[in-house]
Order: sequence, then C-alpha cells, then structure tokens
Amino acid sequence: MNNNCLFCKIAAGEIPSKKVYEDENFYVFHDINPAAPVHLLVIPKHHVPSMQEIGPQDAQWLGRMMTLAPKLAAENGCTPGPEGGFRLVVNTGVEGGQEVAHLHMHIIGGPRPWDKR
Ligand code: 5GP
Ligand code: ZN
Repeated sequence: MNNNCLFCKIAAGEIPSKKVYEDENFYVFHDINPAAPVHLLVIPKHHVPSMQEIGPQDAQWLGRMMTLAPKLAAENGCTPGPEGGFRLVVNTGVEGGQEVAHLHMHIIGGPRPWDKR
C-alpha cells in the first residue's frame, strides 16, 4: 500500500469505486470517465507503478491478470465472439499516456461507435 496512491486507496476501499470483481490479488472497477460502453480497470492490490518496474518474477500474476480479462469482459457487457470483443490497454509512463502511477489494465468494449484510442 502506497499512501499517496489513488489506486491503492481504491483497492483498500478508502476511496469509493464501482467494484465489479475482487480476489486476493486483484481489484476491478468501472473507470470514472468511460471511453466506451464498457470501461473497466483491473489493478493488482500491491503497488506497482507501471510496466517499467516489472520483471520475470511478475510473470505469474501478470498472466493471471490477462486471463481475467475475457471473463470480466463477458460478465460486464462486452459482446462475445469475433464480431464483439474488447480492447486491453496498459498505458505506461508519461509518454505512454499513463496518468495514474499504479499499474492498471483497461478493458474497453461494448457496441460501437467509440473512439479507438
Ligand atoms: P491512465 O491514463 O493512467 O491509463 O488511466 C487512468 C484511468 O483512471 C483514466 O481512464 C481515468 O478516467 C481513471 N480514473 C482516474 N481517477 C479515477 C477515480 O478516482 N476513480 C475511477 N473509477 N477511475 C479513475
Ligand atoms: Zn498504488
């Protein structure tokens, strides 16, 4: 827990959020400013600033984070099948467009049109 981190506070329940899933390692909630009909954020409960700080020791939980995506997408309104789908985005660092310095994966989807960026 990083006391100066917005997403650590959200994962700890200290700042309210619309939770859709939680387990021992992850907390998943609705983005406050959705870019599409479905816009979820998946965060590890432990503080990791970005993908620039991860290494081989992180492969297992990162793999689990990826495998959570299709389940969460399907359960939260993304259309299944090849004509549906979703985007997974992990903005990394300032030049990568990251605004909150706690690693997070966006799950973005739902019926088009919505901006691809
Ligand atoms: P980034 O640009 O860092 O990849 O994404 C940060 C995301 O967090 C943005 O899409 C933004 O809308 C979302 N966000 C920022 N502050 C909050 C908040 O307090 N609550 C929730 N639910 N989402 C937030
Ligand atoms: Zn944090």
